[in-house]
Amino acid sequence: MSNIEAPDVRDEGYDDWLDAVDAGEGFYLECENGHGSLPPRRVCPRCGATDLEETPLPDAGEIETFTEIAVAPPSFVEDTPYVTAVADFGPVRLTGLVRRADGADLDGEDVAVGMAVSAAVGESETTGERALVLEPR
Ligand SMILES: [Zn+2]
Repeated sequence: MSNIEAPDVRDEGYDDWLDAVDAGEGFYLECENGHGSLPPRRVCPRCGATDLEETPLPDAGEIETFTEIAVAPPSFVEDTPYVTAVADFGPVRLTGLVRRADGADLDGEDVAVGMAVSAAVGESETTGERALVLEPR
């Protein structure tokens, strides 16, 4: 998070963040008022502070909402059916695909609000592009 003059490098910031999550060093950005946000943000979305500090992401989050996707956009068509969820990690919420750590199939019946998950990085089975994954713990 060094180049503050490049507000348009959104994917780059996000890719760096995925790298960190993949390495087990996931983080979020915390402003001086304790608000959490995620890269590639450079300004706190709640108070406008620009001094954001990388803070280790909590090890576990809790699923808040989830959706089973049967009809996917083209980049995920070969992944269907799959489950996406929003998980509460305390200061931040993460949105990702819900997958078991061992790669076994998972569907909406296997997921519940309140389920504990870890953040990880996986790939779209369709395009090979990386995506944030929420793994039940
Ligand atoms: Zn703030």
